[in-house]
Amino acid sequence: MVACGSCGGLLTAAWSKGRSKRYPYDVCLARYCAGKGKSVRKEKVEGEFEALLRQLTPVPELFTIAKAMLRDLWDARLGQADRGAAQIEKEIAAIEAKTGQLVERLIETDSPTLIAAHEAQIVKLEEQKMALADRGASSGQPRMTFEAVSRTALTFLANPWKI
Ligand SMILES: [Zn+2]
Repeated sequence: MVACGSCGGLLTAAWSKGRSKRYPYDVCLARYCAGKGKSVRKEKVEGEFEALLRQLTPVPELFTIAKAMLRDLWDARLGQADRGAAQIEKEIAAIEAKTGQLVERLIETDSPTLIAAHEAQIVKLEEQKMALADRGASSGQPRMTFEAVSRTALTFLANPWKI
């Protein structure tokens, strides 16, 4: 990920053998590069990169823009969750209507076979309703506040070196 200062191509990481130790370094292997074969110690490359990263502090406008972008995404997600919750409520209402009809038929019939069939259907519908209610309860409410979520992202932007 380190570009050569002479040709702009990527350096290759390698080891050089010392008397008793091996030393990591980066070298340009591009055939026509003026700096071909010149190596830079890994510590030097990474140290200078860290120094560069430390200086990397964005202008205040970037935070305003980033926060507005995050807010847009957040609101869009909440909107989706709201629509999902409304859909679940609709489905629950439909199930309740169907259950009501079945209960009426159950009361009107004397046939044990029909009674058993209606009862089984009612139980099934109740289970569906419970599952939907569970889904409705867990959707819509974000687990974290917008402030908490955006803080992490903005802290990273404020000083990437820290992370
Ligand atoms: Zn080069």
